Amino acid sequence: MNNLSRPREVVASQSDGWQPEHEAMLRQAAERAMEFRRALGSCPQKPARTFAEMRESFLSPLPEEGCDGRSVIEELAALAEPGLAAMTGPRFFGWVIGASHPVGVAADWLTSAWGQNCGSHTATPAAAASEEAAAAWLLDLLDLPRDASVGFATGATLANFTCLAAARGELLRRVGWDVEANGLFGAPPIRVIIGEEAHASVFSSLQFLGLGYERVIRIPTDAMGRMRIDEFESAMSQSDQPTIVIAQAGHINTGAFDPILRIAKIAHRGNAWVHVDGAFGLWARACPSTALLTTGIETADSWATDGHKWLQLPYDCGFAIVRNAEAHRRAMAITASYLPAVAAGERNPSHYVPELSRRARGFATWAMIRALGRRGVAQLVGHHCGIARRMAQALRQEAGIRVLNEVELNQVVVRFGSDDPADDILTSKVIARIQADGTCFAAGAQWKGLWIMRLSVTSWATGEADADRSVAAIIGAWRAVQADGA
Ligand SMILES: *Cc1c(COP(=O)(O)O)cnc(C)c1O
Repeated sequence: MNNLSRPREVVASQSDGWQPEHEAMLRQAAERAMEFRRALGSCPQKPARTFAEMRESFLSPLPEEGCDGRSVIEELAALAEPGLAAMTGPRFFGWVIGASHPVGVAADWLTSAWGQNCGSHTATPAAAASEEAAAAWLLDLLDLPRDASVGFATGATLANFTCLAAARGELLRRVGWDVEANGLFGAPPIRVIIGEEAHASVFSSLQFLGLGYERVIRIPTDAMGRMRIDEFESAMSQSDQPTIVIAQAGHINTGAFDPILRIAKIAHRGNAWVHVDGAFGLWARACPSTALLTTGIETADSWATDGHKWLQLPYDCGFAIVRNAEAHRRAMAITASYLPAVAAGERNPSHYVPELSRRARGFATWAMIRALGRRGVAQLVGHHCGIARRMAQALRQEAGIRVLNEVELNQVVVRFGSDDPADDILTSKVIARIQADGTCFAAGAQWKGLWIMRLSVTSWATGEADADRSVAAIIGAWRAVQADGA
């Protein structure tokens, strides 16, 4: 142990309250954080160390004695930084994840410092009110029914879960079954219809809800991964059981949208509940040049989307939006004698998500939307779609590189070599080279039986120069892979 360990002082500061050294520690953390972010544009877009190496650095016996906060923060930063990915960097195109804008980060710092348990509005009027305000802005930006209810969840996985819980409860209530009170044992069956290429996390929501991920009806998809409407219509007509239909706005690979207007029309004729997983794609609605892709989405019954993807909020933040606010609340509300009751028209943050105690997500959401405004959000979405088209266009110029999707949003599906599955190895090799090179980051996926490289443009920091530099690196990697094989 070094001479900085002063276990007794931790105890003393707890009784004495706020200490000057707390401020020094917080400033130091802020400095370290800013150094990290400042360097992101020029550092390799990949972690310097592997998971095995990071375990080696982190795993150590439980310390018997504590030590002072400044040393802990210094030690943590020194330990962690070599194993951090440049996920918020300008040339990071992996998965679909957003890049925590500095405004969101700053608001989140305040949120942590304020330390509000945002379960109830009587306990923390500001946290609850900021959520209500941010919720109203969201409905306006996304042009969804203004009286829909909004729950602030950890991300789209839990937002999907929350919406589907509301769907399950409401459909069963209509046939005289109270699932919130009595569970699913003995309940009338619910049918779930979902596109074959729905996001994996939606199937986990079904798993958590007792609806099962195997007993669903999976609708075949077209070349872009959209649900085929003929197949959907025929599945719908097969039974008049209570039905949940899950559509997708923004396919994880292609960015494509299910034909939601037509799906909803057919589904509603059969009294089904239509849920939309729009983790990133729902934001297309906030931009005039892409809004057309989302036509009819407003006719659905519930929508899940993320704050930490396209809106650039820090983790973790997603939104569960439900047209039938009562169904939403019945599915999620927790009541107990010691929890303050709400008057009619009042909103407790905990009534719309599974958690009781949680971070006050309304502050960062409010701040991010306040900073961007309607026009800023539209520009961000439009800019990313433009960058995606630019990258696709440039990649297509190179012999042997193909873009497999219609680039109508921010996603580009790239294949190296032919469609012969034996050529999968070429795409894997390019991805491995790209990741080792570190100029940009891109990852692979299996899609329609082929290994592909997926580029997802979702960082506020990505400019045209970043796109061009990344394309050059990808083409360079492809040429090197070919030279290796020759
Ligand atoms: C990312 C994503 C999810 C899951 O969202 P999390 O925020 O990771 O929980 C669900 N659906 C789609 C289409 C996604 O892109």
